[in-house]
Amino acid sequence: MGMTYRRYLAGARVYGCSNCRTHLSTINSMISKAFHGQHGRAYLFEEVVNVIEGEPVDRQMTTGNHTVRDIECVKCHVILGWKYDFAYDSDQKYKEGKYILERNLLVDVQ
Ligand SMILES: [Zn+2]
Repeated sequence: MGMTYRRYLAGARVYGCSNCRTHLSTINSMISKAFHGQHGRAYLFEEVVNVIEGEPVDRQMTTGNHTVRDIECVKCHVILGWKYDFAYDSDQKYKEGKYILERNLLVDVQ
């Protein structure tokens, strides 16, 4: 196994993995707080770092069918949410390439 380099974020508010505090995203990258994850409320982010993306799978959600990839913390491997690869409905296209992080799995690190 090679070394895992982790990126460090700076900003007004940095969100990290609640398990190991690895930096994941910032308030500046947040698009919406009005999402739901597997474990309750979730946030939609423009960009997330220090995660490993899983294989793409089709998942039926309340807002329609989407192709998503689970994302896990690069350090502790907790599943933190998912990334939207593709949205089948035209009014959901804005989510493509964006990330969902579960609020319960985030901690303010800065
Ligand atoms: Zn972690």
